[in-house]
Amino acid sequence: MINIDNYKSVLGELKHTKTTLVAVSKTKPASDIESLYALGQKDFGENYVQELVDKQLMLPKDIRWHFIGHLQSNKVKYIAPFVYLIHGVDSFSLLKEINKQAIKNNRTIDCLLQVHIADEETKFGFDESEIEGLFANSFNELKNIRVVGMMGMASFSENQEKIKAEFIKLKSIFDKYSSIQLFNCQLQILSMGMSGDYKLAIQEGSTMVRIGSLLFGSRLQAN
Ligand SMILES: *Cc1c(COP(=O)(O)O)cnc(C)c1O
Repeated sequence: MINIDNYKSVLGELKHTKTTLVAVSKTKPASDIESLYALGQKDFGENYVQELVDKQLMLPKDIRWHFIGHLQSNKVKYIAPFVYLIHGVDSFSLLKEINKQAIKNNRTIDCLLQVHIADEETKFGFDESEIEGLFANSFNELKNIRVVGMMGMASFSENQEKIKAEFIKLKSIFDKYSSIQLFNCQLQILSMGMSGDYKLAIQEGSTMVRIGSLLFGSRLQAN
């Protein structure tokens, strides 16, 4: 079941911003996605490859599918034909594999670099120094990917000041590299903010929020 009131209130928050809403539908049935789609929502985010592939097959073809989970290189091939944006790119080898699969599908795949901003060990992503190394690496050989922005997840915490500081940090890293203009790299999208912290994220410069439980209700699993 979707929560239409919450959906409307999130849209209201985004109305005077340039921030895009990605509705995170992981673990939720296709019927919930259809309900939100009927209200005009086109961007949906999923975390699991098999689940995404199954849903993509049965749902409208103009849905923009965002892969927001941790992506294993050996699974890129399943989503490469249709994925709209991959948020969680956290290694150069993954970027190379996405490029390879994009070539096979005769398309370009847009990617975000995931930056590790939380203090939790378990969250994926590059740290600041690794980002620097990545940009020192030549992107030029990867002709079928485009790095269009960055993504991050704040610590799982009630402490608003801490979350805010992490968002500010991500925004500053994003700004530092946003002047890079390569044919396959122009940073425009800053994907940060979830159900619990999206207002703060918008305030700190997010251009894309990924919201799940607020729209679809809480999930049973801790993911
Ligand atoms: C699950 C998930 C979300 C959505 O989380 P909610 O708290 O339900 O809004 C956003 N981003 C990522 C990377 C996720 O895995």
